[in-house]
Amino acid sequence: MDYQQFDKISLGFFPTPLVKLSRLSQALGCEIWMKRDDMTGLAFGGNKTRKLEYILGDALAKGCDTIITAGAAQSNHCRQSAAAAAQLNLECHLILGGKQPEKAEGNLLLDNLLGCHIHWAGENRKGEDIPTLYQQLLAQGKKPYIVPYGGSNELGALAFVDAVAELARQSQGLAFSRLIFASSSGGTHAGLMLGKRLFNQTFELIGINIDKDESGQLPFDAHILALAKQTAKMTGTEETFSPDELILNASYLGAGYGVVGAAENEAIALTAQLEGILLDPVYTGRAMAGLIDMIRTGEILPGEKVLFWHTGGAPSLFAYTGQLDLTQGKNQAI
Ligand SMILES: *Cc1c(COP(=O)(O)O)cnc(C)c1O
Repeated sequence: MDYQQFDKISLGFFPTPLVKLSRLSQALGCEIWMKRDDMTGLAFGGNKTRKLEYILGDALAKGCDTIITAGAAQSNHCRQSAAAAAQLNLECHLILGGKQPEKAEGNLLLDNLLGCHIHWAGENRKGEDIPTLYQQLLAQGKKPYIVPYGGSNELGALAFVDAVAELARQSQGLAFSRLIFASSSGGTHAGLMLGKRLFNQTFELIGINIDKDESGQLPFDAHILALAKQTAKMTGTEETFSPDELILNASYLGAGYGVVGAAENEAIALTAQLEGILLDPVYTGRAMAGLIDMIRTGEILPGEKVLFWHTGGAPSLFAYTGQLDLTQGKNQAI
């Protein structure tokens, strides 16, 4: 397996820490560990840092001077792309779903500080308008590079093959029974799936589905399998994956993408108050809610050693004051 020909650059601090969550473990009756990709360091970090090391490495190698990417108004991917672009002296254009809010908060506040160009796209929060903007920038004499939605192409997924190698080095002798994480645009999932295969990891890989597809079907299964296969080709291997190898648990979609319910609020509060670790309202809060539920319902057995992959996202907490349960704080007079 040799894929060193790709132009990976350094944008974060690796390996990210692997820590045991003692108090949360005790409270839930399982041994819970956490991979701290919220600590990659790039403008508050997150899983997109890994993907951007390959994707923007490719952009630089191709001589591009401008990047375009897309996401929701509170996209962590867009915030990390904007930060990386600043560092690399690339002009950055973000196409964000919805319309410009009165106040820029959370990730959007950071996007502004990072100096990128923001285009509001209404309903089109998944990059539908990228081709139009690409042509406009070309016409202006720029050399634009398209960073795919969520950074989820083969290069982005490849970064999570590396992440499994990193985990394997860190976790020797730990033998996790499961790895649980938030799965959305699929690049993390595809990379972890392939990395698990290539580095002979024995954990069950459980993606918690975050984003319901508008058509109401499970949207991402086929996409993730195809992406894992394509990514395998880039590593010079011919791995293929069957649908029964993919676990994308859609039981925790709640009221939809970015809507914080009781389960997310509980998961965020427990993790904050037992471990001092901040989850995010959209992704990791929901994935942790899934883990907690699987433990409580006995789907995960008492005493199992499980790994939760913290994919980042906490900056959007600051845009969710209206939906987060703030009654947990103990405000009182002296
Ligand atoms: C993007 C993101 C994910 C999902 O990763 P995908 O590769 O898009 O599936 C999970 N958690 C956070 C915090 C993210 O920003």
